[in-house]
Amino acid sequence: MRLTGVERLTRISVRGVVQGVGFRPFVYRLAQEHHLKGWVRNTSGSVEIEVEGDNGSLDRFLNALETQAPPMARIENIEVASYPARGYTDFQIEPSLSREGEYQLVSPDIATCEDCKTEIFSTADRRSGYPFTNCTNCGPRFTIIEDIPYDRPKTTMRQFQMCPRCQREYDNPLDRRFHAQPNACPECGPKLELVGSDGRTVECEDVIKTASRLLKEGKILAVKGLGGFQLACDATSDEAINLLRDRKRRRSKPLAVMIGTIEGIKEHCLVSAEERKLFESPQCPIVLLGWKQDSNIAKAVAPNLKYLGVMLPYTPLHHLLLKECRLPLVMTSGNLSEEPIAKDNDEALRRLKGIADYFLLHNRGIYARYDDSVSMVEGAPQVIRRARGYAPYPIFLPFKAKPILACGAELKNTFCLTKDEHAFLSQHIGDMENEETLEHFENTIQLYKKLFRVEPEIVAYDMHPDYLATKYAIDVAAKEGLKTVPVQHHHAHIVSCMVENNAKGPVIGVALDGTGYGSDGTIWGGEFFIADYRSFKRLGHLEYVPLVGGEAAIRKPYRMALSYLYTLFGEDFSLEGLPLERLDSAEIGIIKQQLRQKINSPPTSSAGRLFDAVSALVGVRGEIDYEAQAAIELEMLAPDETRVEPYPFAIVEQGGVRVVKLKELFSSIVQDVKSKTPVPIISLKFHHTVAKVIAEMVIAIAKETGLLKQVALSGGVFQNRLLLKLAGSALRREGLDVLSHHLVPTNDGGISLGQAVIANFVDN
Ligand code: ZN
Ligand code: ZN
Ligand code: FE
Repeated sequence: MRLTGVERLTRISVRGVVQGVGFRPFVYRLAQEHHLKGWVRNTSGSVEIEVEGDNGSLDRFLNALETQAPPMARIENIEVASYPARGYTDFQIEPSLSREGEYQLVSPDIATCEDCKTEIFSTADRRSGYPFTNCTNCGPRFTIIEDIPYDRPKTTMRQFQMCPRCQREYDNPLDRRFHAQPNACPECGPKLELVGSDGRTVECEDVIKTASRLLKEGKILAVKGLGGFQLACDATSDEAINLLRDRKRRRSKPLAVMIGTIEGIKEHCLVSAEERKLFESPQCPIVLLGWKQDSNIAKAVAPNLKYLGVMLPYTPLHHLLLKECRLPLVMTSGNLSEEPIAKDNDEALRRLKGIADYFLLHNRGIYARYDDSVSMVEGAPQVIRRARGYAPYPIFLPFKAKPILACGAELKNTFCLTKDEHAFLSQHIGDMENEETLEHFENTIQLYKKLFRVEPEIVAYDMHPDYLATKYAIDVAAKEGLKTVPVQHHHAHIVSCMVENNAKGPVIGVALDGTGYGSDGTIWGGEFFIADYRSFKRLGHLEYVPLVGGEAAIRKPYRMALSYLYTLFGEDFSLEGLPLERLDSAEIGIIKQQLRQKINSPPTSSAGRLFDAVSALVGVRGEIDYEAQAAIELEMLAPDETRVEPYPFAIVEQGGVRVVKLKELFSSIVQDVKSKTPVPIISLKFHHTVAKVIAEMVIAIAKETGLLKQVALSGGVFQNRLLLKLAGSALRREGLDVLSHHLVPTNDGGISLGQAVIANFVDN
């Protein structure tokens, strides 16, 4: 029987993202509402609450605590204990308590909320037009935090003394800015400054108006955003975009566009309900959208692509700028190609000097570099580049992990630190091909170790001996006496997919990507495994062909096309009637010699290279200037709803594994090219073929191994939306449970998560 009217004391401990998100004021209001007495406080590890009142009120309070939590709060776990009442007379917010060794989750930066937006756009508000407006529901977080507990003196906001009005908001539990650490206003907060490329201030009345005029004139602006600088220019101007491309040394890699409102986006792109949800989420990432033919955004923004990377403004500065200039703006990372994004004013002035005409600066410091995140919706949303809005929020593990540092791969690097049930997957670090990126990687590891109090005992890394991340891992382990666990690249892909889907395995893993170091020293990339967290067995792969010229074969897909043709049909194969016949005959001679004598031509089973080869063979792209360009452009050509027959191929047993033989595939494509079958149809037939290869291999493995029902799809090739859709439905038709990526990238940005999990289980 339930007693009513009897006072009880309930002690509650809430874990998750519950600090810096307005949780205490929420608890305060809730306690008032339910007439409960007691207190709430932050500790290093959780939010603690003591409330007393009658049972009914306590139940309603507990229920509301979970169901009505502020938008950015993420409750991971609530512990409740009941005691006799103590006789509290009021409800208070108590001072924070710091406990040695405890840590808390840190909120990512959050896109400007509706309330703050209303304020900056209203003429009467004291924050009208103020580009650094924020509240407990929005604004910078991770990028300004130097340590925990999250309080203003431990952020880059400490240099700004709050004015009396801001202080009153900050101190008032009923105010939307109660303990909003970056709270600021035009009187006391950060300020904008417009500077020329010579570093001199541009004197003007209104910085936003002047910046907007410059953009309309076709100038390139470096804009200091949340986690670093962005380069902005008019997205409807070919001239401005070509200038930016020249200066940034980025010939054709697609650029992201920022558009002021959802309605504005709809003028240029198709927006599904799922995609709209992403724009309206606090993360507010770049979303890859279907690009309308009649959009006046210049084709040079994303040459040959049918998807456009679009984002909404996510800081007040962006909102004000976009509203003022009323143009879609290219908004791309402020860096020279391949380098990390610039974050400090003097650094930007130095590094972006030759790129930007003007610099839109401010004096709020950025502590952590933080790129824009990129997502797409194919069936369900999935993140392709995970940074702003997502990191450093952890991926939750279905087990308690040892403290591990996993160093990730080479391209699109992220690292991962584990502790308890948390995998702290870092924000996108970049391509680890230069000193600057390595330094960014090392600094960010230090930051995460400090924020989350992780002292790794094990270091996991990719088996590729030349990766900078691998070298770093081996170095650190030697210096600090840590255990090391080398992890095979595709095993890490599959496990990363399993973990985010909460699957313990074993599963059938299909890992398709460009390059990964195989356990046998060859280059893998078209792999069919049985895998769990501990180990994997390679049960099949695409047939090997020479990667003729090594790196050169990746930059020049026509080399892969020739490698397939001469390997499958002999070196007398005639190129007549194929786009390849226009190649320089001297170079063809050299390639044949390289193949014959096996000079710098390691064998590869890479699926990425197969797509490259087909793209070059049908004349879509023979040379690339960004990763996967040939494959992407091939995918773009395929029409949506056309019925086609896949090409033939064979699966044969070789040395105990299944090998996908591609001779018939290539001879059929050659025939189609010669008989002038439209390239879009060839592309579609090819995609259907790869989907069928996947389905047949998986079914054969499922039969051979018995009861396996789950298939994990991972690797960069699954960023190909058409392939993901075709393969997914082919497998589902066979009754298989298909796991794909959503929370972490399917590309190498997800590798470190898999590495960490494998290291946790291998080390025993
Ligand atoms: Zn807000
Ligand atoms: Zn103020
Ligand atoms: Fe990979």
